[in-house]
Amino acid sequence: MLLSQSEPMPDHPTPQQGRAALTDDAERNRLLAEMAEQSTDMISRHTPGDWRFIYASPAVTHLLGYSVEEIIGLSAYDLYHPDDVEDFKKRAPSVSYERGLYTHTYRFRCKDGHYTWLESTSRSLRDADTGELIEILVVSRDASRRIKAEQANRRMARVLEISSDLVCFANPDGHITYLNEAARQTLGCEHPELTDLQLGALFPAHGYQQLTGQALPAAGEQGRWRGEIELWSQARQRPIPVMLELLAHRSLDGRIDYYSLVARDLSGQKAAEAAQRQHQAELSHATRLISIGEMASGLAHELNQPLTAINNYVQGILRRIDLQPPPTLDELRPPLERIGRTSLRSGEIIHRMMDFARKSEPQRLPQPLPAIVDELLDFCQYSAKRHNVQLSQRLPAELPAVIADRVQLEQVLLNLLINALEACSRPEQQTPLQVWLDASAAGNDQVIIRVCDQGPGLPDSDSEQLFEQFVTTKPEGLGLGLAISRSLIEAHGGQLWAENRIDGGACFCFTLHSDQPASGQPPETPSQEN
Ligand code: ADP
Repeated sequence: MLLSQSEPMPDHPTPQQGRAALTDDAERNRLLAEMAEQSTDMISRHTPGDWRFIYASPAVTHLLGYSVEEIIGLSAYDLYHPDDVEDFKKRAPSVSYERGLYTHTYRFRCKDGHYTWLESTSRSLRDADTGELIEILVVSRDASRRIKAEQANRRMARVLEISSDLVCFANPDGHITYLNEAARQTLGCEHPELTDLQLGALFPAHGYQQLTGQALPAAGEQGRWRGEIELWSQARQRPIPVMLELLAHRSLDGRIDYYSLVARDLSGQKAAEAAQRQHQAELSHATRLISIGEMASGLAHELNQPLTAINNYVQGILRRIDLQPPPTLDELRPPLERIGRTSLRSGEIIHRMMDFARKSEPQRLPQPLPAIVDELLDFCQYSAKRHNVQLSQRLPAELPAVIADRVQLEQVLLNLLINALEACSRPEQQTPLQVWLDASAAGNDQVIIRVCDQGPGLPDSDSEQLFEQFVTTKPEGLGLGLAISRSLIEAHGGQLWAENRIDGGACFCFTLHSDQPASGQPPETPSQEN
């Protein structure tokens, strides 16, 4: 073995020292050889120049698949990965001639042909007297796991860096240790040094309160917290709504090592939702006006009656004033009082129409169904007459109030009633068809409201299609009523569906939450008969 040749030999030893040194050397060589044989690191010796193996410890079999005998005589250059060999050739002189000790990481070909990562420390061994390079001693270990972990880390870091989600790592004391590019840009934290930045700087006051009061304690207990929260954007000078995923990462001893925060910017989504709500509200108001337009001829008629009556009373009074003797004031009082009452009624009709056409911010409150339904049926009576339809309500005496925005609830009922009236329209027939409205309390604190008719019923094909926008079978139809009604009901947490009645006609049903707690009754499901 030449292992000891790297050690400088003492100058001119005494014979006694010489014997002791020899014994020590022999013993040390034996121990080193034994360690080399048993080490899981591969120890190898190479010729200078072509780096042929002149010795390899048995670990070579585990690392590269060769037996010791097979690898002896092979040149290391033949086993380097082609991409690494040039690099090694450049560096080899520094091992052989310069510093004498060199560590590097490279790919080496195993016996089965695949490449494995090795990390080797090489040392040149020189003749103590002449300084001549005798051989190179190399200790190599498997670096595949480390290299793979480093590659995975680099990949992960790249992914984090280009992710559109905002990513942040923070120590348990709130010090921020990392912000990815999206976070730096969105939050306007272009600090070259993040060491001074605290988590508090990323949140507006109320957001930080939510973080410290709710999110961090929950993550501490359950490992994670997920929820909507607001971050503070220095760049935009305003809060940004985000969906935050907060994880508490623990070390082996169970202490929280650090927190990771991954936030998805919800600004776009919130803006789109607001725009959608606005659009919905405008569309909804527009169709409401259209519905009122459809009522207009009925209302004109309704208004015409009291106006005619007022005119008749006035004409009567004028005629009587011309008589001799003229009427007393007491005689004029009754027709004047009737004029007053009738004009009030006209005012009410106009008021009701304006009420239906109003635009207001949605407000969900308990609404008494019978009162709303009565008013609505009253409103639709003239339209019903025009279509020759008998309109009624069959609400049970006891019915919990429903939680709804009144204007929107009226609009859904109005849409469904107008459709039902149009479906039953038979102006020429003697016996009118019927349209009625009923409701019942169901389980799960819900009320089901139904608008039923004796019309032709739903088309045989998919009745769900009717709820799509712009689907209409009417020459003047817009195909918006059902689509809008469904989205209004769904926004209330209810459902709207249509079914055919067994004895003819259609029934449009919807659910709304009632203001009474669940009764324990099983929920009613869509059925065939109503
Ligand atoms: P529009 O009334 O403008 O056509 P809707 O969305 O309110 O738009 O209705 C879509 C279609 O659904 C109607 O054109 C009609 O074919 C069908 N429909 C709605 N209500 C009824 C009903 N009560 N009976 C039969 N068909 C109906």
